[in-house]
Amino acid sequence: MSEQSKVQFDRAIILGGSIGGLAAAAALHEHCEEVVLIEKDDVDFLTPQPTLRRGVPQSGQLHNIVGRGQQSLEMLFPGILDSLQDAGAKTANVSEDTHVFELGHVMPERNLGLSLLSVKRPVLEYVVRQALEKLATHSNVQVLKNTQATGLIVSADHRVEGVAAKSPRSQSETILGGLIVDATGSSTRALDWLKACRHDIPQLEKRRFDQWYVSTVFKRPKTYEEQSDFWLTFATPPKSRGGLISPVDDDKWYVSVSGRANDPVPRTIEEVKAYAATLEDPTIFELIKPADAISSPHRFTRTWATWRRYDLMPQPLSGFLPIGDAFAALNPLFGQGTSIASWQAAELSALLKNQEGVDTLTSTYLARAAQACNAAWDLGKVVDNAITRSDTSNDSLSENERKIFTSLLFKDPALHRLYVRVWHLLEPVESLQTYYDHMAQQKVPYITTV
Ligand SMILES: Cc1cc2nc3c(=O)[nH]c(=O)nc-3n(C[C@H](O)[C@H](O)[C@H](O)COP(=O)(O)OP(=O)(O)OC[C@H]3O[C@@H](n4cnc5c(N)ncnc54)[C@H](O)[C@@H]3O)c2cc1C
Repeated sequence: MSEQSKVQFDRAIILGGSIGGLAAAAALHEHCEEVVLIEKDDVDFLTPQPTLRRGVPQSGQLHNIVGRGQQSLEMLFPGILDSLQDAGAKTANVSEDTHVFELGHVMPERNLGLSLLSVKRPVLEYVVRQALEKLATHSNVQVLKNTQATGLIVSADHRVEGVAAKSPRSQSETILGGLIVDATGSSTRALDWLKACRHDIPQLEKRRFDQWYVSTVFKRPKTYEEQSDFWLTFATPPKSRGGLISPVDDDKWYVSVSGRANDPVPRTIEEVKAYAATLEDPTIFELIKPADAISSPHRFTRTWATWRRYDLMPQPLSGFLPIGDAFAALNPLFGQGTSIASWQAAELSALLKNQEGVDTLTSTYLARAAQACNAAWDLGKVVDNAITRSDTSNDSLSENERKIFTSLLFKDPALHRLYVRVWHLLEPVESLQTYYDHMAQQKVPYITTV
């Protein structure tokens, strides 16, 4: 494929107006004369309040934003972390205020220099929409709500030229543009669209994990009001039952319990409490036992993690940039999806500053977007392998290795910090092995006992 001359794009089209799409608009708006954002929901982008909507079925779930996501959102929308706090998001110091039970132990509580942010999903989108509106040249971002992308228009030499769409205005319209961001989420139809254009499709990497989630809002007992503490219980593999209490507003807790296929899904408040009582650590149960629920339990299930490997295609479609769940939809258990989407948009923003041609932009973006997925994918693989024992490779810790690793976490604050930074997508999973090897080389006494 020949390289084009350096380009300032005339028009970019973003498909999907959720976190990935909005973050991509922030990345693109300075580098394109016009950005057209197409959203199939009838959502008014300047509504005076947050709203639940159909296109994002997980809208009812509270979202936690890990370190990488906070960093990326702030880079794309300067000042947004303050705006989120003003809108009711809560942040807690990790791990002083995030009380974690993991690997069979209550983890040490130290200041690790990180924070965890929790926010109601509609509030997150609402604040991000407002932040996009505030960006100086927002006037060049045009939102077409109630408009569904239905296909791609591709030139004979494999470059995007536009999209087909339908709306109440027109059953079939064509919107032309030389860059297309697919931010339509996990149910993206992009592979069908590529096939329809006779273009190669990416291979799929899939992992089955049969995860379910049940979330309920509780009124916080008075003694806990206005605190930002979280409680997280991660199952010790091969067990699979987990739980999470996140702060919402000043007086509510968002309580999630999670399990895998064979675990009975609680359907009532009593069943949620009874399920919490079976977690390895009793804390979450003890906290919610006397608390009153103010919503009914809401269930969400995801069976597969799916990564569309655009980054491995020998000839990707030039100008086609998938982002967020349209690139890879992961296990929501680790609360990393919006962070990955905004990280990918931040990478796109950095690349656009280099003013590369569209071919180079596409391949470099896909490689960087894959790196963002990789961090979360590897973490998920470690946990899934340990739970299902489907793989006996080094990805799963044996019980003995887990005991040793846990005792190291207690003894070594630097290792603890690194471990948490992996979860927050600030370090790759391999950095733990590198650290471990380094310490072994230094013959640090506790390592030589391994
Ligand atoms: C139960 C659950 C809990 C989660 N918890 C967390 C968490 O705590 N922290 C976290 O960071 N992430 C979490 N996630 C993941 C997070 O919700 C997703 O990763 C994130 O929403 C992905 O954003 P996106 O913009 O890629 O896609 P989506 O948010 O899915 O948005 C896709 C958008 O595209 C629109 N659309 C779809 N098709 C079309 C079309 N053809 N034309 C036009 N528009 C279209 C939709 O209406 C929607 O607006 C959770 C997910 C689930 C399921």
